[in-house]
Amino acid sequence: MRHLTWVLPVIISFLLLAFFQTQGPGPGQLPISYRIGSVDERFGLTRQEVAEAVEQAASLWEKACGRDLFCELGDAHMDINLVYDYRQETSDKLKGIGGRIDNTRGSYEALNAHIEQLQAEYRQVKADLSADIDSYNDHVEAFHVRSAQAMRLESSSGDLTRELDIERSSLEEMREQLQVRQEELKAMAETLKGMVAVANEIANNLNIRVRDYNSTGKDLGKEFSEGCYERRNGTQSITVFHFSDRAKLVRVLAHELGHALGLKHVDNPEAIMYRLNQSDSLDPAPDDIAALHQALGITDKGRPTSVAVRSPSH
Ligand SMILES: [Zn+2]
Repeated sequence: MRHLTWVLPVIISFLLLAFFQTQGPGPGQLPISYRIGSVDERFGLTRQEVAEAVEQAASLWEKACGRDLFCELGDAHMDINLVYDYRQETSDKLKGIGGRIDNTRGSYEALNAHIEQLQAEYRQVKADLSADIDSYNDHVEAFHVRSAQAMRLESSSGDLTRELDIERSSLEEMREQLQVRQEELKAMAETLKGMVAVANEIANNLNIRVRDYNSTGKDLGKEFSEGCYERRNGTQSITVFHFSDRAKLVRVLAHELGHALGLKHVDNPEAIMYRLNQSDSLDPAPDDIAALHQALGITDKGRPTSVAVRSPSH
């Protein structure tokens, strides 16, 4: 039994080590180092601008607890990436027509109004194009009939040949224009698809019954996510997918940095750690501060208490 006196502490040390490896850096392992990873140029931000936004996001937490929590390092284990997909693409297109996406009921209603307007426009453009394609096909048929007649009348004059040549090149021009319009219609359909996907995802976030737009079934069940924090095999990453302006970018970064610190979601819609990026405020809410203190093991008097338990959620 005597060997237990040293076996037990060794086992406990291993268990503690395993705990910290799966639960993230403990308060003693702060600051968390990060580096700016990939930044899709379509966001229109330089790496420097992204780095400044991250610094500002980090400082929101640092000011709240009066200590360094994050630092930018070239060989850090946490990459911060900006990945451009249908979310930002839809957002950028909406910006062009005065719209804005955020996870609120108002933004959802506005988005639906844009979708309805664009759908009406799409139907009109499609109907016009379809009528013009029919008319073009009639012209082509008439042209073939005239050409065949001209060939049968072997005595076709130079005038008739010239006429047919002019007609042929005008038909060719019409065909090219129709192709351009077909491409435009396709782009409109893509825009609509993106908007409907985003609208459905926001509806999911807000627990609203989704509108029944055509062929949207595959998008159901997804939530509109502006960013995520992942911890896998000892490496961490933050990915940002969408932000409507700089303040929202700083907020989404602060939210994901909060997860990296071990903060969980709080119930206050104004808070940075609310599950949706609804507010424009860049001040941590009291619920955020409480969550930060809990994660860092800080009591009201500023003294560390027990070791914080972290969750790998996003
Ligand atoms: Zn979250």
